[in-house]
Amino acid sequence: MDGFVLLYQPIVDVRTKAVSAMETLIRWHHPTEGVVPPGDFIPLAEETGLIIPIGEWTIQQACRQHERWRRQGFAPIRMAVNISVKELHHPQFAARVEAILAETNMKPSWLELEITETIAIYQETTVLANLRRLKEMGVRLSIDDFGTGYSSLAYLKQLNIDTVKIDRTFIADCPHSHYGSIITSTIISLGHHLGMNVIAEGVEREEQLEYLRKKGCHEAQGYLFRPPMPADEAVGLLARSIERRT
Ligand code: C2E
Ligand code: MG
Ligand code: MG
Ligand code: MG
Repeated sequence: MDGFVLLYQPIVDVRTKAVSAMETLIRWHHPTEGVVPPGDFIPLAEETGLIIPIGEWTIQQACRQHERWRRQGFAPIRMAVNISVKELHHPQFAARVEAILAETNMKPSWLELEITETIAIYQETTVLANLRRLKEMGVRLSIDDFGTGYSSLAYLKQLNIDTVKIDRTFIADCPHSHYGSIITSTIISLGHHLGMNVIAEGVEREEQLEYLRKKGCHEAQGYLFRPPMPADEAVGLLARSIERRT
């Protein structure tokens, strides 16, 4: 996958500020255009079908990076990887993930796949079969940009979703705008009631973090902590494993 690179952005525990996960974010280093953000090439990759090899490469790279960090003695954290709904339409998707996990000695629960809902995906047979298989394996599922897309509440339980990520447009409004704050606190409370992990995206200011802490949001991510960064910088944020290695 020439020209593609992955950056890693930490997701931190709101109370302790310890890093509990890393989200991988893809970049394309174009020979003449420079760094191209995913918003500019993922839709094209989805149209052309290139998203299948790109997506597989991304999951594999993320899992290999996780294995490298474990080998260096760092405690395992969750590795979040964005996937496109197109990937879930591929009948072999779950099987490929299973093979990658085996190759990289990953516990399935270390991998969290982030899905951005733009359509009612849970009505498609292949998509459902892949999601069910992933859940059976123990892979974690996360709904990205929650509150903006096709957010049906029914599938959260139906698909046994582990994590919801509150879209950053709502966080941007916290705590001053009534609307953004109400949506944010409602999603947090929904997460509590359904036993789901809740992550706030795009946290840039201390007052937002304070609001999230008061409302009991579990995790946060954003420029207030760190921007997405290369693996060799991200490693500085990881904690040493206290497990004895044999
Ligand atoms: P996302 O999954 O919601 O990722 C969060 C985006 O917000 C990232 O943009 C990140 O750089 C940015 N961000 C992080 N903290 C802050 C903050 O405090 N303030 C603001 N304003 N932005 C923040 P990025 O890297 O450009 O990615 C955009 C989208 O592209 C992602 O949204 C995700 O849906 C998609 N994407 C990224 N990597 C991949 C990938 O490997 N595969 C697929 N299928 N999609 C990807
Ligand atoms: Mg994401
Ligand atoms: Mg996304
Ligand atoms: Mg998002």
